[in-house]
Amino acid sequence: MPGSASQYNDPMPNTPPIPSLFLERMSHYLGDEFPAFVEGMNHPPVSGLRVNTLKLTPEQFRAISTVKLGEKIPWCPAAFTLPALESGNPTPGSHPYHQAGLYYLQDPSAMSPAEMLFSVPLRDHERILDLAAAPGGKTTHLAALMRGRGLLVANEIKDKRVGHLIQNVERWGAENVVITNETPERLADHFGPFFDRVLVDAPCSGEGMFRKDMGARLDWSEEMVAGCAVRQGNILRVAARLVRPGGYLLYSTCTFAPEEDEGAIAQLMDEFPEFEVVKLPQLNGFMPGRPGWLAGMKEDERGLDGAVRLFPHRVRGEGHFACLLRKAGAWENLPVGRVDRFLAPNKAQIGFWRDFVSAVLHVNLAEARLRAMGERLYYVPDEMADFGRLRVPSPGIWLGSLKKDRFEPAHPLALFLKPGQAKNCVDFAAGSRETAAYLRGETLESEGQPGWALVTVDGWPLGWGKRVQGVVKNHFPRGWMV
Ligand code: SAM
Repeated sequence: MPGSASQYNDPMPNTPPIPSLFLERMSHYLGDEFPAFVEGMNHPPVSGLRVNTLKLTPEQFRAISTVKLGEKIPWCPAAFTLPALESGNPTPGSHPYHQAGLYYLQDPSAMSPAEMLFSVPLRDHERILDLAAAPGGKTTHLAALMRGRGLLVANEIKDKRVGHLIQNVERWGAENVVITNETPERLADHFGPFFDRVLVDAPCSGEGMFRKDMGARLDWSEEMVAGCAVRQGNILRVAARLVRPGGYLLYSTCTFAPEEDEGAIAQLMDEFPEFEVVKLPQLNGFMPGRPGWLAGMKEDERGLDGAVRLFPHRVRGEGHFACLLRKAGAWENLPVGRVDRFLAPNKAQIGFWRDFVSAVLHVNLAEARLRAMGERLYYVPDEMADFGRLRVPSPGIWLGSLKKDRFEPAHPLALFLKPGQAKNCVDFAAGSRETAAYLRGETLESEGQPGWALVTVDGWPLGWGKRVQGVVKNHFPRGWMV
């Protein structure tokens, strides 16, 4: 055997070891390349920062960033690697620009699936589903690539993971996202073959995360890999029903196990012969899909070598797998329409909203897109769909609350606004005492016009404050404080 599992010396003492059976499997699959893989596993994990291109360009961000950035990530033009933190440098997760939604922190390899899904160019009016969306890494990426157009449905099955997804989408400020909290089955029963593109970023055994996720090391077993493959098969079978004729399905995992990668796709293609693999771009360092790692399969079995595998010893990122499939049929271009079950606000409520806009904002939002859910006012995507009785925790941008006699703005409205869209701003510098105090929920002193004011950091909207006699009452939500 060219490489052996015993070559691996864990660089992090006092951490659970990488399972030796996993290393034996990798040695068997990788052959001559196994020593390089082991060497790669000895390095610390790589972090990445993806700029929110709905708000600014990567070049604009680089010019203002006080977080040190590394090189550009070759497969994601909006992203940079992050060098290891030096003491004294701001941690990117607690920086005010992060709270302003200027970027998302993500493993560079996890930025490949959204880019790969768009290796087929986006058309107008597309309906896209992110079936397993929390905490929202790929949703925010898809939303940026869609540039606020069409409809993006971000679904998460687990109730307790939905809150985090909502918060990340709200921070991103995308206006075309509806969040659902459903099983894939209920979505497929309701929608049928409705979506132009479906992303299945499947729950998996997480082998690709072993450098940074100690829990994944502890949980791993061959039985777990087999169990994940069964679950992935069940999810894919349902996802296939949600893709329109001529539409696309992108399947991704963060594991190396071929049973969960090429094996899951081969099984899908057995059951749904109308799907074929679309060859993905093989960028520098990527490895083609390896169906030959599975018993009885050839190296190019059913075009599965058109998938991509990312390995930590080949690219600056963790382990990932992505495969794009196309469903047979003519891909018609159908606008989504505007029929939905949510109520339009009544006349009085529209009046409160208009009063608020004329006093506080410089925006002109289409009133046809306003919806009232209880006391909440939302701005739904331009191309809305009918969600029937599905659970929809967020149908769009939460603008604010409709009180008995007035409108009160909500935090997501602040993050949806662009610089210059509020009449009354309180601006502080990123490194200032005031910005830190605002993000801690403290009251601020600032003379100026009384009433609602947008608190901004170097001009970027951060949240709301209400000024009364030179004191700005803090409306930054408690749950968002770092
Ligand atoms: N796409 C996310 C991102 O980029 O931030 C990460 C998704 S994570 C790999 C997989 C998700 O699948 C988890 O949020 C998990 O709750 C969800 N999940 C677990 N079981 C599922 C099932 N049976 N059907 C659909 N989703 C499931």
